[in-house]
Amino acid sequence: MNTSNRVLVIRSIDKVTEFLTGIRRTGATIGFVPTMGALHEGHLSIIRQAREETDFVAVSIFVNPVQFNNKKDLEKYPRNLDLDLALLTLTRCDLVFIPDEQEMYPDNKHLKEQLDFDGLDQVLEGKYRPGHFFGVVAVLRKLFSIIQPTHAYFGQKDYQQFLVVKRLIQAEAFSIQLVMHPIIRETDGLAMSSRNALLTPEMRQKAPMIYQILQILRDKAGNTEVKEMKMWVRKCFIGLPRIKLEYVAIVDAETLKPIRNWSDSKRPMVCIAAYFGKVRLIDNVFLFS
Ligand code: AMP
Repeated sequence: MNTSNRVLVIRSIDKVTEFLTGIRRTGATIGFVPTMGALHEGHLSIIRQAREETDFVAVSIFVNPVQFNNKKDLEKYPRNLDLDLALLTLTRCDLVFIPDEQEMYPDNKHLKEQLDFDGLDQVLEGKYRPGHFFGVVAVLRKLFSIIQPTHAYFGQKDYQQFLVVKRLIQAEAFSIQLVMHPIIRETDGLAMSSRNALLTPEMRQKAPMIYQILQILRDKAGNTEVKEMKMWVRKCFIGLPRIKLEYVAIVDAETLKPIRNWSDSKRPMVCIAAYFGKVRLIDNVFLFS
């Protein structure tokens, strides 16, 4: 739908609301891809899917302070707006909404009653990054209300976030079709992430071990005891200088509850979080697939 050369940049809620009201009146479907910027091929691949499936593609770039439980992590988070805008133009994104903190949280008002996610938001990332999903929900609730997309696209890379968003959409009765995009990887298997840019060359070389481990687990699943698989992962990380496994979890993909035996779940998955130097990386794969 974008016929101009450059992606349309809008920074204010009023303007984006007015603009999208016009788009909605034409009966167009709106695909929305929320991001924190520092765009990479993972983001662009999602945008291309949205491009194929919807009439109008809106991306947001907002480094949401509320979802960072660690101030240093927020300060260090990569930002590269000029390159982002060039990439968005190349992928033929129609509109990018880039609000600042004051626009999103005037007077710091993001504290709204929290939803009940049946513990989904308390495990894995929720356990190790307390408050993270509170922030995710706060920002997405607001972005969904502003953009009012027909479709919203999220990556499997943040699978737990996808499940939390699914609950949010149900709970608030947003009329949004939620779509999950598979994990896009570097050629050596490392899941693409804005944070990869923060890895030292040495850690960048080591980081693909996460996906190598996940692939071996996928091969072993069903034949090796769950407990044994987790122990094996922990052993893989022992004695590696400045590399630290934060968690390995084998869970049911619907509930994120840990499984003990393979018969406990029809759709098990494994999730890993690990530090490579100061950079925290996450990855996951579905087992039995
Ligand atoms: P972020 O900018 O990190 O908040 O990510 C924005 C969206 O892109 C989220 O839905 C992520 O799950 C998704 N995403 C990030 N990295 C990847 C990847 N390597 N493959 C697929 N989706 C991704």
